[in-house]
Amino acid sequence: MVETTTSVLRATLYKNTRGMSKYEFTCPDCGQQIEVNTPVREATLSHGCPVCGASVSQEHFARQ
Ligand SMILES: [Zn+2]
Repeated sequence: MVETTTSVLRATLYKNTRGMSKYEFTCPDCGQQIEVNTPVREATLSHGCPVCGASVSQEHFARQ
């Protein structure tokens, strides 16, 4: 019983942690720092900095 409860709790924590993935984006051009989640990170990689439009790469995102 304890084993099962612990497993469920672990799975829940794991799921929540994945769901809350956040990155800090620092624009190499305008220097703007923005906290972003995974979808916004993907969009920024595709379309550039939301502030100035500079093209960015994965190295400009720090995992939080
Ligand atoms: Zn920028």
